[in-house]
Amino acid sequence: MQTADIRSRWLDFFGSRGHTVVPSASLVSDDPSLLFTVAGMVPFIPYLSGLVPAPYPRATSVQKCIRTLDIEEVGKTTRHGTFFQMNGNFSFGDYFKEGAISYAWELLTTSEADGGLGFAERDLWVTVYEDDDEAIDIWKRVAGLPDARIQRFGKEDNYWSTGQPGPAGPCSEIYFDRGPAYGAEGGPAADESRYIEIWNLVFMQYLRGEGTSKTEFEILGELPKKNIDTGMGLERVAFLKQGVENLYEIDQVRPVLDRASALAGRRYGADHDDDVRMRVVADHVRSALMLMSDGVTPSNEGRGYILRRLLRRTVRSMRLLGVDTATMPELLTASRDAMKAAYPEVATDFDRISRGAYAEEESFLRTLTAGTTILDTAVSETKQKGSPSLAGDTAFLLHDTYGFPIDLTLEIAEESGLAVDRVAFESLMSAQKQRAKADAKAKKLGITDLSVYSPFRALGETVFRGYDELEAESSVL
Ligand code: ATP
Ligand code: MG
Ligand code: MG
Ligand code: MG
Repeated sequence: MQTADIRSRWLDFFGSRGHTVVPSASLVSDDPSLLFTVAGMVPFIPYLSGLVPAPYPRATSVQKCIRTLDIEEVGKTTRHGTFFQMNGNFSFGDYFKEGAISYAWELLTTSEADGGLGFAERDLWVTVYEDDDEAIDIWKRVAGLPDARIQRFGKEDNYWSTGQPGPAGPCSEIYFDRGPAYGAEGGPAADESRYIEIWNLVFMQYLRGEGTSKTEFEILGELPKKNIDTGMGLERVAFLKQGVENLYEIDQVRPVLDRASALAGRRYGADHDDDVRMRVVADHVRSALMLMSDGVTPSNEGRGYILRRLLRRTVRSMRLLGVDTATMPELLTASRDAMKAAYPEVATDFDRISRGAYAEEESFLRTLTAGTTILDTAVSETKQKGSPSLAGDTAFLLHDTYGFPIDLTLEIAEESGLAVDRVAFESLMSAQKQRAKADAKAKKLGITDLSVYSPFRALGETVFRGYDELEAESSVL
């Protein structure tokens, strides 16, 4: 089942059940405090918060998303893309828990011949919030799920809130069991790589008040209008339905992976580290294509910096695959061809998109050459002094001023029989992170997932918690 087919089954299913089909919004949201659209619900926040009356009682979409939080997972897990598409169905004070659960079960288990996704009932597990007996009853009654395939989780995992006063409520997630070849028995609680999370149902049911942490807050009462927000990972369903091993091998992504493999002259599946690099390339090239298609250009801050990281990590990964010449023209073209059926603008706008990407690659390749020269000098000076390791401040200078990644410094130093003073390097890095943190605070720049909920802030006195993420953001390249 091709990704496009799953997408249209989704829209047909919910469209024919009274949901207004809403096109994907841009990856770049209107809200300047929000880095990217991270979930299907983002464009609907004004309606979900009640700030603006919803123009329809039900909606459905396939939303383009970017999650920078997942960049480090990419290629290593089977299921995290930087860019991905989230299928969503939404109810604004219309149907609630029973409706959401019934629809989800029906779409998942209806046979392919009858327009469904054709999952076998025995392969599906669900998680619920531990006190949500109502959801458990519905899962048993509507889906006939046995107790053994319903797992209860605490607030940390199965409770949604914006991190501030406003709407909140329990979630219920649906998982697909890939079977014993993929890990330990025991449901999602035991193994999240055998049991793949495919769909999250959020029941916006309560009004929460102040709190002291993600799990400690008061509930003020039931919301007068309860909402449904769900998100299913389109690529996750695609990889499970296509019988491939992970989301980098689906029809929309695999052609880039194959091109990387051909350029490197290395076979996919032959070596674990190489495989991870090919998957990273496949993901990052596609993510960069989609970001540039939505108007992002490489720069040193904010959205442009994320794009720059994706492009540079691609160059770096190709280099580790043994290719140190420009590859973006080949890779980006492969991604365009795989994505243009779903997003024709990546083809019509390709001249503009590709110019930005090629220029960034050229400039980073020059950086790598310049950095290598500086590093070579430092290596021979270090050796002359008879020191076993390269000074931390040299590594830091290369990273900070030349954008030269630390792993590359380590690799080149090692080739010359030298270590790198990591302790000194790390302490310079953490001093820099502190400065960046202070800066971001000053700029009121929020880039965690929680910043998504800024429009909810109008609902009450709010505390902003968007800074924790900066460290992760600046740790690579
Ligand atoms: P995970 O625990 O696997 O990281 P999540 O709980 O963070 O997923 P949700 O926020 O619940 O994900 O998003 C709804 C759905 O979107 C998930 O059930 C999953 O199918 C999909 N999804 C989330 N993150 C990604 C990603 N990085 N790549 C592909 N699909 C994703
Ligand atoms: Mg996640
Ligand atoms: Mg999860
Ligand atoms: Mg989830």
